[in-house]
Amino acid sequence: MPVSSDPMAGDLLVRAIAPADELRLVAAVTTDVVREAARRHGTTPLATIALGRALTSGLLFATMTKGEERVTLQLVGGGPIRAVTVDANAQGDVRGYVKNANVPGVVHRGRVQLEATLGRDGVVNVTRDLGLRELYQGQVALTNGEIDEDLEAYLRTSEQVPSALSCEVVLGENGEVLRAAGILIQALPGGEADAITRAQHRLRTGALHKLLSRGDVDPHALVEQLSPSQPVEFLADRPVRFQCQCSEERIRSTMQLLTVVDLDEMIAEGKPAEVTCNFCNQKYSIEIEELERLRAEHAPRENN
Ligand code: ZN
Repeated sequence: MPVSSDPMAGDLLVRAIAPADELRLVAAVTTDVVREAARRHGTTPLATIALGRALTSGLLFATMTKGEERVTLQLVGGGPIRAVTVDANAQGDVRGYVKNANVPGVVHRGRVQLEATLGRDGVVNVTRDLGLRELYQGQVALTNGEIDEDLEAYLRTSEQVPSALSCEVVLGENGEVLRAAGILIQALPGGEADAITRAQHRLRTGALHKLLSRGDVDPHALVEQLSPSQPVEFLADRPVRFQCQCSEERIRSTMQLLTVVDLDEMIAEGKPAEVTCNFCNQKYSIEIEELERLRAEHAPRENN
């Protein structure tokens, strides 16, 4: 069974343009995506917010070309959460995890600051796979550890596209995910960079958080209310979901990378080996017979 959030869920990504200022806009409601990620990883409230901002950013990042795009975002910092990694594709699938899902801390009302969670010092790594054999990789320093602001700075400095990005997760009193969403506004070539500055200002002063705190929202409404330029024209929309790529087969093929020493240790334990997928926390059990078979495959090579 593939690991994914409920396909009947309401999470949706919409694309739009604002022709007057030549802007492109992408907004996504990701409430079920973030809920599923929090459930799978058992995240504390601050870890849920960090992971949710990154998952939503990943989905928005994977919409920049027309083709089969895959994007991996990794933010590494000196704070207790240590790292956030997400992986998204143009079909609307996203998966991700944080290094420390148990990061403690109290969530206050309003936009939560993640500076003390991820840390101010660290790096943002972005890898784009456009299906053309080559990978495009970029790295910038963290701006402030807020994740969406760090990724916005990455787009501006490394990809040189004037961009405004905001992603939010609103939690209930018990840390449950009430709503999650994000918006990315970019200037097309020749577009109006001042409009991006206006959008950034509104987003930095909490516009998205306010909309999400009031009640359920539709991504079309997010675009209409947060666009710095009117009118907007809607292009395609697509459902988005938490979806991992792992499977029993894939886990088995990664097991082939284990050394003889690793395999001997696992066999000596005398019980099936448990392998957990980082991205979705799914556990796979590898029987001893399978370990012994892998060990036997190794033997001739190791003896050369
Ligand atoms: Zn997985």
